[in-house]
Amino acid sequence: MAPSSEPSYPTGLVWFRRDLRTTDHAALYRALTQCQQVHCVFVFDHEILNPLARTDRRVEFIRESLQELDGVLRTLSAHPRGGLIVLHAVATEAVPALAHSLGAQAVFANHDDEPQALARDSLVRTRLAIAGRAFHTFKDHTILERSEVLTQTGNPYSVFTPYKNAWLKKVDAFQLKGYTVERHAHRLAPRPLDHCHPVPTLASLGFEATTLSQPRLPTGASGAQQLFDDFLGRIERYDDTRNFPAVKGPSYLSVHLRFGTISPRLLARTAHRLMLDGNPGATTWLSELIWRDFYFQILHHHPHVVDRSFKPAYDAIQWESGPEADALFAAWCEGRTGYPLVDAAMAQINQTGYMHNRLRMVVASFLVKDLGIDWRRGEAYFATHLNDFDLAANNGGWQWASSSGCDAQPYFRIFNPVSQSEKFDPEGKFIRRYLPQLAKLPTAALHAPWRARPLELQEAGVVLGDTYPHPVVDHDSARLRTLQRYAVVKAG
Ligand code: FAD
Repeated sequence: MAPSSEPSYPTGLVWFRRDLRTTDHAALYRALTQCQQVHCVFVFDHEILNPLARTDRRVEFIRESLQELDGVLRTLSAHPRGGLIVLHAVATEAVPALAHSLGAQAVFANHDDEPQALARDSLVRTRLAIAGRAFHTFKDHTILERSEVLTQTGNPYSVFTPYKNAWLKKVDAFQLKGYTVERHAHRLAPRPLDHCHPVPTLASLGFEATTLSQPRLPTGASGAQQLFDDFLGRIERYDDTRNFPAVKGPSYLSVHLRFGTISPRLLARTAHRLMLDGNPGATTWLSELIWRDFYFQILHHHPHVVDRSFKPAYDAIQWESGPEADALFAAWCEGRTGYPLVDAAMAQINQTGYMHNRLRMVVASFLVKDLGIDWRRGEAYFATHLNDFDLAANNGGWQWASSSGCDAQPYFRIFNPVSQSEKFDPEGKFIRRYLPQLAKLPTAALHAPWRARPLELQEAGVVLGDTYPHPVVDHDSARLRTLQRYAVVKAG
């Protein structure tokens, strides 16, 4: 039964966006409990897809996940015409038009707080309202959002640790509880005949197949569950393993959190329970989920971070530009910097669409503080290449590395790419996996091949400047240039 204070409707429409699952889904639950019958739609939005390259792992991930979602909705509705309506259109036009043709009095969706999504939703809300239809949106993507965690003076937090403490104080069984969608599934409506199509093929969407990463990236809610089950077997060791890219330490769930193929409440609830049981890995992992909420609320309260530094003084920094900077940027993108850990990390993102968190920090620091290149260029590269690209977390990560963000790395702390390599890939396993041309180097030489003895290089078949590049910059001199570059911040 719907709570009596909420309106009820004969027909509702649930619009799926970054929440491609049926289990524990806020908007779907609300629609099923407030409407007599409920239709479900996903729109491949021209406005999002048109600017993308024609091979994009994320489009393939979404398409495969939708196939599973469609199948689950068919099973849940138990009707031959049950399932997901999938459109390839401009969402701001298609959603109001579909609501009209279905005779839906209300559209239900989950919050999406990225600036472009907010603008899209505002237009949809207006168009629906003009036609006398409601648009209801709900928190689903985070545990605590927007202004739910504020300081005692009512301001948003900009430092993580006090935010985390306040988050942990505020979170309760209600916030972590799942929505029991399945119980109300009998209200799922059959699709009209003209919408009974399978999920469009990649080709019909104008895209080509990608490798979807090697080893294959599991898609859909079942893929997410599989990764989560696997992670639960090693979550206790997360604290010890999470910083070593050659080790299977983290959960690899980020792409699933990005597209909502798993419920963040399920993850946080499980980690929270394990934390209370004294599980150290789960305690640290829950902190990572809280970082996620933290950056979403930073974006919500400080939307200027999309284009500018969180701390305005950092916008006075003069970044390198011109042909030489462009050539250095290209070397970074293509993994040709001559620093093996940086190059292996860039090979990982280029080949798989994933990059380990430690490596994201290392390559971001290298771009900004060794090459002197504007963090926004690196941020944009990640945005097109990461499967899990999320504006809030990506921006937060880049502004952390460039020291311009809230609670960021101090500007004078500059990662040494060789010591990072020795510390976090001590046996060189990760480097060897992604840079086979260096595989035969002895481990001591692998982290900085330019320091290897000529015989070591010869025996490993490495010719610097030919099979592997010389370093594009000298770290010690780059470090000094960075301290000078950041002097404007100190002065400001
Ligand atoms: P796990 O270690 O298993 O962590 C679990 C989840 O917690 C992640 O899936 C993610 O949702 C969240 N999380 C972990 N660390 C962070 C963090 N620092 N900030 C916010 N959320 C976090 N994460 C993204 O999801 N999308 C991005 O676009 C993104 N860009 C980044 C860019 C830079 C420069 C840096 C330094 C970090 C970025 N991160 C981003 C954060 C982090 O690197 C990834 O979330 C993590 O590597 C994903 O792997 P995992 O799922 O195995 O993580």
